Amino acid sequence: MMLFADLDESLANSQRHAKPRAGRVPLRTAERKRIDRELRIAATAFEAHEGMVITDANKVILRVNRAFTETSGYTVEEVVGKTPRFFRSDCHGPEFYEALWRAVEQKGYWRGEMVTRRKNGETYPVWYTMTEVRGNNGIITNYVTTSTDITRQKKAEKEILELVFYDPLTKLGNRRLLMDRLQQAMAATFRDGGHGALFFIDLDNFKTLNDTAGHEVGDMLLLQVADRLAACMRLEDTVARLGGDEFVVILTGLSPQLAEAIHFAKQVGSRILHTLNTPYELGGQAHLSSPSIGVVMFGQENNTVHELLRYADLAMYQAKASGRNGLRFFDPAMQIAIKARADLEASLRIALKRHEFVLHYQPQINAWGQLIGAEALVRWQHPQRGLLPPGDFIPQAEESGLVVPLGLQILEIACTQLEAWSRGRNLGDFILSVNVSARQFHQRDFVEQVLATVVRTRADPRKLKLELTESLLLDNVEETITKMTELRTHGVSFALDDFGIGYSSLSYLKRLPLDQLKIDQSFVRTVLVDGNDAAIARMIVALAQTMGLKVIAEGVETQAQRDFLLDCGCLAYQGYLFGHPMPSGPFEEFLKQVDGVGAR
Ligand code: C2E
Ligand code: CA
Ligand code: CA
Repeated sequence: MMLFADLDESLANSQRHAKPRAGRVPLRTAERKRIDRELRIAATAFEAHEGMVITDANKVILRVNRAFTETSGYTVEEVVGKTPRFFRSDCHGPEFYEALWRAVEQKGYWRGEMVTRRKNGETYPVWYTMTEVRGNNGIITNYVTTSTDITRQKKAEKEILELVFYDPLTKLGNRRLLMDRLQQAMAATFRDGGHGALFFIDLDNFKTLNDTAGHEVGDMLLLQVADRLAACMRLEDTVARLGGDEFVVILTGLSPQLAEAIHFAKQVGSRILHTLNTPYELGGQAHLSSPSIGVVMFGQENNTVHELLRYADLAMYQAKASGRNGLRFFDPAMQIAIKARADLEASLRIALKRHEFVLHYQPQINAWGQLIGAEALVRWQHPQRGLLPPGDFIPQAEESGLVVPLGLQILEIACTQLEAWSRGRNLGDFILSVNVSARQFHQRDFVEQVLATVVRTRADPRKLKLELTESLLLDNVEETITKMTELRTHGVSFALDDFGIGYSSLSYLKRLPLDQLKIDQSFVRTVLVDGNDAAIARMIVALAQTMGLKVIAEGVETQAQRDFLLDCGCLAYQGYLFGHPMPSGPFEEFLKQVDGVGAR
């Protein structure tokens, strides 16, 4: 831009040179040459392909270049003497121009995008700069503006944006746009104290249509659904296609009163249901389609966009499960439960890293009152919540798969403990039982993991028993038998936990290399009051005997229960009558009895 300041100065100077004013010294030849050269450069630059307009200090146009006349459609005569206000489009408010002039006043220039107008009335986007020119005395002499037509760049930009943020088929926003908008919507409702609603819409039986009538017909339906959805929403709402036959709608600015907000969302939901249930015309054929809709409200909770989408998705599945063509709100109670589960999973991961799990040991006693073993039962030594029972975290560990690394830690602790107990002491027939979850057992390398742990900890595998459950054993019988047999050759034994509550077929059970059946505590509890349970307990003992298996009863709390079990022929017991599960320290007292005793 300095060039134009020079140009202007030079113009002024050359005019002065032609008609020297009083008191001014005519220019010397060398300087003249320099000015001529600069003038030529300036004139060439002035005819560059950027449109240029030069005004005087009063913003009255003095000159425009060819690029300007070509893009704007005006002739030089039409614009000289006017102000640039003449080409203003209606696209910017007065505050836009005020800001522009303020910037020029403060910084000497403004640059940015602006929409301007051609002579034929058409508007077009330009990259615009406005620079003030000051004379040597610091007073503004001119303003110079340059503008480049950026219609093409804008179009390309728009195309790229469309590719990135829009679904090519329906022209609705895609997942990326949705996530972005949802993020904004959640932030805004959180800030304003209002509510929003997220609708997850899935077409019923869309796959069937696609498979039977072909993808083009499927696409036709999707297009019409998109149009209908867009038509029944307010301008400020977002409608997006997640992919396939899944659409999402975001409503914002709903009432701070949750009940009111839900009422409004319900109305919108009914509208969507109605419009999407109206028959479609697909290639000349009438077609009926219905949606299943899941809705989740958002407002002051601290959810992530992913969580919110999952809740809406869950609600949609509920709508599908209860007969399709319907609308379901996500139940906040369920939301809380899910959130709690997710939190639990996260803290389980941390707990695994920090080795917060400990084992308690519950004695197992024979008919002669001798200690024959113990069951290792896991507890979580939670830094804030104290000692947590397995019921509080095993189900979540199972569901998330964390039970696999957890199981390995448990096995490691149990084997380490077993080895420590056996040091300098004859453990006799004492056996430590460890619970193994189905997921852990079905790991491909389960056998190797167990053997590696035994080797690493130097525990005696003949003193290790694994407790399995029936459902686990029947999952994949052949694989199960192979794994059990392999471990057995190393001395590891197996007990079938919670026996009696499953429905195992005896022919399967006979094939499994088991050592012991463990009568479930539910029978033991009622063995004295419920004739049925007493019969089952008797039957289990008889069954074990015919199959050549040992049997143990768990949950034995009273002497009467023990006596009854003994009467049935059950010679091993575990339960509060003999001892609660306890840390390894107190358990040492029990172990003292076995020292040197060949307990059975
Ligand atoms: P389970 O394997 O059936 O374990 C027996 C449960 O009964 C234990 O509960 C034990 O404390 C309790 N119990 C023992 N004697 C009595 C009694 O006389 N009366 C009553 N009412 N209860 C008694 P716990 O420790 O809460 O364990 C619950 C379940 O958690 C276990 O049931 C087992 O399925 C699971 N679990 C425990 N430790 C582990 C583990 O290390 N790994 C895996 N995968 N699961 C485990
Ligand atoms: Ca058990
Ligand atoms: Ca059990």
